[in-house]
Amino acid sequence: MFSLELKQIFNNIGSHLPIEHSFDMSNYEVNGANPIKKPVKVTGEVNNKAGIVGLAVQAQVEYSSECDRCAAPVIKVFNIPIKHILVTELNDKNNSDFTVVPSMRLDLEELVAEEISLYLPTKFLCNEDCKGICTFCGKNLNEDSCSCKKPIDPRLEVLQQLLDK
Ligand SMILES: [Zn+2]
Ligand SMILES: [Zn+2]
Repeated sequence: MFSLELKQIFNNIGSHLPIEHSFDMSNYEVNGANPIKKPVKVTGEVNNKAGIVGLAVQAQVEYSSECDRCAAPVIKVFNIPIKHILVTELNDKNNSDFTVVPSMRLDLEELVAEEISLYLPTKFLCNEDCKGICTFCGKNLNEDSCSCKKPIDPRLEVLQQLLDK
């Protein structure tokens, strides 16, 4: 746990606190794998503009996984912008525009980890045009083509049977 002490920021209009922090998310699990092997880098600041305290950081995440179509290893770097208005208390608990920081301390890692989990896509491809693997012969179609016949759509098969009669 890494918490930012923000009393000075809340109490001083125009003040700011630079943030440069790295932390480990190697235990973060997606489908039984741990795709975030390198530390997550967080840079930015918390500032007080005219009495409004805002967090504006960018989280850099290197994500290693396998292509969902061809299983080739894929490494992608995401730069995730994270912006929050911080308040010490909130009357309306259903208002999600603000992040409450009780006692003016913010658990930065918890907040950033949550944002990352919301931001990351659920499917990863080595390439948008990945041709995948032939389901019949198992060839990686990005490297080689195969002569397997395309499966017939079951709906078309029914039509074919009707025509044959
Ligand atoms: Zn692929
Ligand atoms: Zn094939």
